[in-house]
Amino acid sequence: MKYISTRGSAPKLAFDDVLLTGLARDGGLYMPESWPQFSAADLAEMKTLSYTELAVKVMLPFVEEVVSKEDLTAIVNETYADFDHEDVAPMVKLGENEYVLELFHGPTLAFKDFALQFLGRIFDHVLTKRGAKLTIAGATSGDTGSAAIEACRDRDNIEIFILHPSGKVSEVQRRQMTTVLSDNVHNIALEGNFDDCQNTVKALFNDEAFRDQVNLSAVNSINWARIMAQVVYYFWSGLRAGAPETEVAFSVPTGNFGNVLAGIVAMKMGLPVNQFIIGSNANDILIRFIESGAMESKGVMATTSPSMDIQISSNFERFLFELMDRDSDALNKAMDSFKENGSYDVSDTVIQRLKDIMDGERFDDEGTAKLIGEVYKESNYLLDTHSAIGVGAARAKRKDKSIPVVCMATAHPAKFPDAVKAASGVHPELPSHLSDLYERDEQYTELPGSFDAVKGYIETTLKERGKL
Ligand SMILES: *Cc1c(COP(=O)(O)O)cnc(C)c1O
Repeated sequence: MKYISTRGSAPKLAFDDVLLTGLARDGGLYMPESWPQFSAADLAEMKTLSYTELAVKVMLPFVEEVVSKEDLTAIVNETYADFDHEDVAPMVKLGENEYVLELFHGPTLAFKDFALQFLGRIFDHVLTKRGAKLTIAGATSGDTGSAAIEACRDRDNIEIFILHPSGKVSEVQRRQMTTVLSDNVHNIALEGNFDDCQNTVKALFNDEAFRDQVNLSAVNSINWARIMAQVVYYFWSGLRAGAPETEVAFSVPTGNFGNVLAGIVAMKMGLPVNQFIIGSNANDILIRFIESGAMESKGVMATTSPSMDIQISSNFERFLFELMDRDSDALNKAMDSFKENGSYDVSDTVIQRLKDIMDGERFDDEGTAKLIGEVYKESNYLLDTHSAIGVGAARAKRKDKSIPVVCMATAHPAKFPDAVKAASGVHPELPSHLSDLYERDEQYTELPGSFDAVKGYIETTLKERGKL
């Protein structure tokens, strides 16, 4: 399997190069050249596999020229061994033909662990084979940072530096990052806000000499390996909900479009999907697109579902590429227009294809709180703010109630205790593996909001660690 860029002019790459490259050189995103196929008979057989067996089955065709089945099996087993539920992704029945897939049993209690726990290990595997080392830098407003740190901790070939705005992330979120005391993890509490963190990281990447010197990389959500790891739980839950004998629907609380895109990939590979429903908070750029056919960027609003507070959905480009029959010229036109004017339109054919498979619904903070309260009252089941939006969108937009719908629960309610308590009256408890989080020692470095200070700190640290 080779990979091509959505923009059509970057070189074709093998899986390991795609993994380490991230964004393609032409500004596009890497996609597999073709989709591996599973027939209905294959799917029926896959029903009996454990989560990790299924993961190997689904991912192997994407990596087999570079990673052997044995190595992939070992990586997958290690990745999901730390999850605190034997099913890895347990499915709970909420109502008639309505299921919740709990994607929050990983170390940081959010679905990003599915991809990032895998990514950290596959990175390490490929780096070891090449005898290479990597420095990862990222900015976080909370969630992604902890998932990335947990993913990279104790990996021999990786040093990770995560910047968060000092005093401006919640205590749970800060502690999930700063209580990881591994020698290769470096938390920086930067003076300033999230944008200052992000701008500093961007400046590090733009400093080409520095970037090459330390082999700088990111773990952002456009990395193909992240999407690939997420495809597995669409098969897993789809098969449990009744596929291949029946079609299934999925409802996904959506920000960067990485999660739902994995579902679209599963469909391309043969899973019978009747409908995708996406839920958004007040940052509803995608919902407006489905309604109008015009992608128009606005400012970002802070909501009670912060992991979906986005301005643009970077992974949407991959779906658009498919909707456009992989026509890179048409895609380039749209992307150029977005860069110049902050907006683009697509053809009627493309918007019709989109509408045939996808619906969307938005919920403001008040609507989200109402959903949490309602579901708790009727089912005694506590949803977090993001997951509630998924369930709400399913209930608002299901086309056919005889088709089972799987709603992705993307975070544990204890990750957002204040909003959940306010909505339900119940204080969500942290699971046992994190119950002493508030007593653990923290380790981080306070730095002024200056590029030179951060760059200097990274250089000094790498030298001390014998990595430079
Ligand atoms: C990241 C995240 C989302 C959004 O997922 P995308 O892949 O960006 O669409 C939703 N919920 C939670 C809890 C998240 O952390």
